[in-house]
Amino acid sequence: MKKQILTPEYRVFYKLKNKKSKIEGTGAYALREIPARKKIGDLGGVIITEREAIKRRRNVKQIAMVDLEDNLVLDASVNPNELRYINHCCEPNSYIRVAKSRVEFYSLRKIKVGEELSADYGETHHHGSLPCRCGAKKCRGFI
Ligand SMILES: [Zn+2]
Repeated sequence: MKKQILTPEYRVFYKLKNKKSKIEGTGAYALREIPARKKIGDLGGVIITEREAIKRRRNVKQIAMVDLEDNLVLDASVNPNELRYINHCCEPNSYIRVAKSRVEFYSLRKIKVGEELSADYGETHHHGSLPCRCGAKKCRGFI
């Protein structure tokens, strides 16, 4: 059973570049300075059911799914934008806000040109058991 309910709007307000991450896999880097407390953009993806997410997750290497309300999940591996590659960090420079069907990224502080963006995936991410390689001093050791 495939239920694709809706595709959220996805936008990026600050130019980002995806290249090899200092944390893991591919990362997202700022191509221009992002001031503190600014919306960076909406994560691209498609909204699927929890059931479909469990199936898809078996094939996913890098975290690309975010929990929404009502047993729905945003799968960011479809219709991706640069935000998809923002890695988890226990001491991040941005944060994720889930608002109904949207997954928004905001800067926590000023982000310099060339700096890698990171966010605390905390509650928004399914598994709590992936080892964390963020390298932060206060790293919790897992995502
Ligand atoms: Zn960590």
